[in-house]
Amino acid sequence: MTLSPARVRFAPSPTGYLHIGGARTALYNYLLAKQTGGQFILRIEDTDQARLVADAMEEQMNGLRWLGLHWDEGPDVGGPCGPYIQSQRTEIHRAHAEQLVAMGKAYYCFCAKERLEALRAEQLALKRQPRYDGHCRNIPLAEAKARKAAGESCVIRFKVPTEVKTTVHDVLRGGITVDNSTLDDFIILKSDGLSLYHLAAMVDDHLMGITHVIRSSEWIPSLPKHALILRAFGWGEPQWVHLSVFLKPSGKGKMSKRETANLKAEEGHSIFVRDMSELGYLPEAVLNWIALMGWSLDDKTDVLTLDEMIRGFSIERLNPAPAAISFDKLDHYSGVHIRALPPEELAKRIKPYFDQAGLNADESALLRIVPLIQVRIATLDESVSMAGFFFRDRIDYDPAGLIPKGMDAASALAALHRSIDLLGSLPDLAHPTTEPPMRALASELKLKPAQLFGILRLAITGQQISPPLFETIALLDRETVFARLAKAETYLRGE
Ligand code: GLU
Repeated sequence: MTLSPARVRFAPSPTGYLHIGGARTALYNYLLAKQTGGQFILRIEDTDQARLVADAMEEQMNGLRWLGLHWDEGPDVGGPCGPYIQSQRTEIHRAHAEQLVAMGKAYYCFCAKERLEALRAEQLALKRQPRYDGHCRNIPLAEAKARKAAGESCVIRFKVPTEVKTTVHDVLRGGITVDNSTLDDFIILKSDGLSLYHLAAMVDDHLMGITHVIRSSEWIPSLPKHALILRAFGWGEPQWVHLSVFLKPSGKGKMSKRETANLKAEEGHSIFVRDMSELGYLPEAVLNWIALMGWSLDDKTDVLTLDEMIRGFSIERLNPAPAAISFDKLDHYSGVHIRALPPEELAKRIKPYFDQAGLNADESALLRIVPLIQVRIATLDESVSMAGFFFRDRIDYDPAGLIPKGMDAASALAALHRSIDLLGSLPDLAHPTTEPPMRALASELKLKPAQLFGILRLAITGQQISPPLFETIALLDRETVFARLAKAETYLRGE
């Protein structure tokens, strides 16, 4: 089946940084646009000026860029339906609010704050749901216009059709029906002429030609209002798709703001895209992870590239059931995608982590160590803890570790001494040259290879866990190897 080109939007509010929920919404929108040859639009929804966070818009955009979800139209790249920042469209929204008034679908409301507060208190006292009572709903338009012209302050309220139910079709959830009596005559334009979110979003979706609204399920309660606005104008509706919610890893409830904020410090994980690179994750891994939290290609495919997702995406395979966040899965995808990188690419990707650690490692040197670490690291930053010793002038470790289980300082020293002599007698330190005689030495000394090699490993790398020993020796300079072995000897001698 060929689908007609979709025009979809990711519409973040710049009230916070891009997190995996937003990123997943953006991804699904992006996939549909790319698969159908349509457009992925970025619209910044900053109508709620009071909650703006200064760098949130930039950070949202940086997060999308890092993930490789490039938009076809948006604030920075422009496009035929701009501006793409909602606060720059206030005139458009205001004109549309007035248009609804002219059509009899909305009305001016002059109720003062005090009246509304008293009404609310009264309703609460009667244990009723607070709602506007329609006081200004039937003021004749000419009279209302005259009052407005005379300078009386007013808002515009949407006239929710009474005595009926509203049903909206969500692709994943079927018909969602509400009794209109539960909907307030909600405000669409404030007294300062600024539009409220519901009107702004629907006007913009219409004018931008949006065909599918794929968004978080927290918008389901607003859905009837959104549909009523579109219907009042006589506009068509997009396909509505409300995604699954994320639950905390335990599967019990949603993550609180506090839990989210503490995650990085407490567990070394994060739900914020801006932290992912610092934590050593590849964008490919993050995309794979979030893609499969609420969608599947089939019942078995676990590892997917962005291109494969574009080819295989379908709205029908989105799963509306809540999805528990699993950071173990992220680590799994991280390892898988690291192993899938061409070595040159991995060398390039780990370079910034060495730079960050103050280690002077050029890409060609990194390329030589990549074969030793590619299968052993789960995140890019682990490359530094695994292989930083290649580039350090000095390595620090606890000398006690030089004495393996079942040995004492004297026997460890003797074994180290014999090893230095043997390695020094070999023509070179290539892996095939060193490993067989060193294994023979271990058996001659009646040591397990793990004992003897453990001494050498710590002496040469400063680590208990390292890339394979003989490959490591082959890659280090000869002088470094012998200097580090000699240093370990002094430790064992207790100097
Ligand atoms: N600005 C809204 C948000 O941040 C978007 C809602 C929508 O996609 O319609 O969640």
